[in-house]
Amino acid sequence: MLGAVVIGIGTAGCVRIRDMLVPLRGSPAEKLAVKGFISRRSLEPQQGVSRISLEEALGRDDVHVAFICTENMSHEDNVRMFLQAQKHVCVEYPMTMSYKAAVELWNLAEEKGVILHEEHIELLTEEYKELKREVEGKTLQEGTLHFTGGALKPGFGFPSFSGIARLTWLVELFGELSVSAATLEEDPANSYSKMTAKLLTSDNRSLTWIEERQPGLPRAKNINFQFDSGPLTQIPPAPRGTVGLFMQDLIHFSAKLAGQVSPEELQRERVRVLHCLELAGKIQELCQG
Ligand code: NAD
Repeated sequence: MLGAVVIGIGTAGCVRIRDMLVPLRGSPAEKLAVKGFISRRSLEPQQGVSRISLEEALGRDDVHVAFICTENMSHEDNVRMFLQAQKHVCVEYPMTMSYKAAVELWNLAEEKGVILHEEHIELLTEEYKELKREVEGKTLQEGTLHFTGGALKPGFGFPSFSGIARLTWLVELFGELSVSAATLEEDPANSYSKMTAKLLTSDNRSLTWIEERQPGLPRAKNINFQFDSGPLTQIPPAPRGTVGLFMQDLIHFSAKLAGQVSPEELQRERVRVLHCLELAGKIQELCQG
């Protein structure tokens, strides 16, 4: 068994505890046993699991794994501490707020001989899988992905990082991308922000990614992809899967811990994660420059 701790008891952290307490039967997630959680708040036990100190988690021999579920801005420091203590790390996306820091962390994981995994539940949704099937084999002319949502809490960072799930969709659907332009409109009085990034595929097809947020805006993803064969303007409807998204991610992470994921697959994920973080950094630079 591998002992695990959860850092950050928000929505994601509570789901991590729940999933470890009742893992999918017969899956490698059964090998994880939650030993405690770490919070900046002095919380009572959560789902029967007790709070422990950071020092204790870092020092205990029966803690092998850390789940970093804090707000985005504090991921990097938490990941580094646990890697340095030679613990495997699963971090909720985005791993860091810079490409350079993510490269450093990955090198540190390699040096310590531990797994570093970034959760990407958006790639596990049925709607994404359906969209991927729909796009496969088609030649893109141009496209737009427009996300709308409510305001984010503090600590979630620049929109190209907090919205990395949408960027990851575009990279997984259309391959390596480059950034040609990016702008950010803001109206602080109304907590409004709109980031528009102009991206290019490797064969110079234009993709526009918009992240628009304001309190009360419905959470939605609107697509308009023009293919040689015709347009796709709606994400195909898909029934909900039977296994929860965080559980699917937990199974994938624990399969990595059990050595059941090939080095090629690990490398493919690493390249994709780093590519997305590099694009997010360039978008931020262009918006702020
Ligand atoms: P959250 O706001 O629920 O929790 C974030 C952090 O805030 C946690 O460290 C939590 O301990 C702390 N927190 C929450 N309430 C608090 C309070 N009242 N006082 C003090 N601290 C408090 O955020 P979340 O949705 O759990 O997101 C955490 C991470 O998971 C983020 O990196 C996010 O990108 C990622 N993530 C979340 C989801 C999701 O569905 N929630 C999905 C994918 C990725």
